[in-house]
Amino acid sequence: MAKQEDIFKNVVSHAKEYGFIFPSSEVYDGLSAVYDYAQNGVELKKNIREYWWKSMVQMNENIVGLDAAILMHPTTWKASGHVDAFNDPLIDNKDSKKRYRADTLVEDYAEKLNQKAEKEIEKAKARFGDAFNREEFVTTNARVVEYLSKKEEILARLAKGMTDDLQDVKALIEELGIADPETGSKNWTDVKQFNLMFGTKLGASAESAMDLYLRPETAQGIFVNFLNVQKSGRMKVPFGIAQTGKAFRNEIVARQFIFRMREFEQMEMQFFVRPGEEMQWYHHWKETRLKWHLSLGLGKENYRFHDHEKLAHYANAAADIEFNFPFGFKELEGIHSRTDFDLKAHEEYSGRKLQYFDPELNENYVPYVVETSVGLDRMFLAVFATSLQEETLEDGSERTVLKLPAVLAPTKAAVLPLVKKDGLPEISKKIIEDLKWDFNVAYDEKDAVGRRYRRQDALGTPFCITVDHQTLEDETVTIRHRDTMKQDRVKITELRGIIENEVSMKNWLMKM
Ligand code: ATP
Repeated sequence: MAKQEDIFKNVVSHAKEYGFIFPSSEVYDGLSAVYDYAQNGVELKKNIREYWWKSMVQMNENIVGLDAAILMHPTTWKASGHVDAFNDPLIDNKDSKKRYRADTLVEDYAEKLNQKAEKEIEKAKARFGDAFNREEFVTTNARVVEYLSKKEEILARLAKGMTDDLQDVKALIEELGIADPETGSKNWTDVKQFNLMFGTKLGASAESAMDLYLRPETAQGIFVNFLNVQKSGRMKVPFGIAQTGKAFRNEIVARQFIFRMREFEQMEMQFFVRPGEEMQWYHHWKETRLKWHLSLGLGKENYRFHDHEKLAHYANAAADIEFNFPFGFKELEGIHSRTDFDLKAHEEYSGRKLQYFDPELNENYVPYVVETSVGLDRMFLAVFATSLQEETLEDGSERTVLKLPAVLAPTKAAVLPLVKKDGLPEISKKIIEDLKWDFNVAYDEKDAVGRRYRRQDALGTPFCITVDHQTLEDETVTIRHRDTMKQDRVKITELRGIIENEVSMKNWLMKM
């Protein structure tokens, strides 16, 4: 099996070679952790967004959409806690001048202890075979016990240092002898907090300009509009407001391609509920969101929940849906029970009431909120990386195929005249003229037809329609299925129905 890193490298290069994702401003050597979506990427991304929007907004009578501005009144970010608490603890190496997240350095160290323990476990497993009892081994083997208890102790001290005193985090780094991963130097500065928000200015003159931030999340645009939407839409609790849009974070350790970017897109929904009913809705949305992911058919084994033990200041329950990315299980979506923290904070800072009159209870209250928040770019990476496959065919040849869920594929069908003459291009174009009202379709007449099939496989196109000499006689074509490579001879008039059946959002969302 190919190594994880190789698979990931392949994902990045395929995305570039086939026009999905380019580094931003590449002619100037790019901008770190910023990417552009190319001709095929923009279609895939749009389809994922639409798939989310349809399932959240169109299919739910009590959820409506919103498109709030990226720039917001700066007090928003005081109230939300981002000005004071949206920080990463940073440490610099004085020799190499490299900057790191102090907590990540310690976590990586702890993870190495974990790996050492795992190695011992694997060795023992190989030795004892079927008789191996993992639980017993982990609690009795002296080495494993030592590695794991040391790991726990380090993580506990890190957590305490992060909340109480960052100097303790530095002391921990020194005590463990953690070195700069790139140079080996142990000459560290103090740990300092670094705010992740990008600042900008509104206004022309230096004196009158107002300091603003690019929003680090879309959620606050929903909270400040809560009452406007509730009143103008005559919404009744429970109801939700959904939004997709750009968010900006000055991430320090921005690697792993589009997994962690400085400019990214979120798809968020805030669901407003009666106080006391939030847990039931939290569980409802956890399950519903997982079902949405599973409906895409990327494999149940690739998802897991991670319930948070340590909660953010605004939450009374939180979980991540983690996905098995090429570099391991990582957060894809967060589901948070945010209490009434945000609306109350905006009441306090704005001096306005943000309350709902519940006609059934005959009382006013600040609703509680359950949030679902998924990164569109991370979704893209999950779908793209899992779909990219290398296959060995029966004749021993290899093919690269992007097995995207057909509903998300950028191009639904490619129409290919077998040869560039005898009127076949003309018929192909007529087919395109007809289908393009409903689907994204492509035309390709260059190279031998086998090579054209392979190119469409690599682009993730679910169908190839080939026009040949028989078409001239009986108005039939062959339709080739990407995943099975099976070809059927069908009437031109049947094409729309065949494609529709496989790509319609309805058919996919019904699997939820
Ligand atoms: P992480 O722990 O990975 O930094 P987070 O917990 O800060 O993520 P949230 O604030 O809960 O993330 O944001 C919700 C979602 O937005 C995440 O689940 C993720 O899919 C996406 N997201 C967050 N930060 C980034 C980023 N820098 N680049 C791309 N997507 C992101």
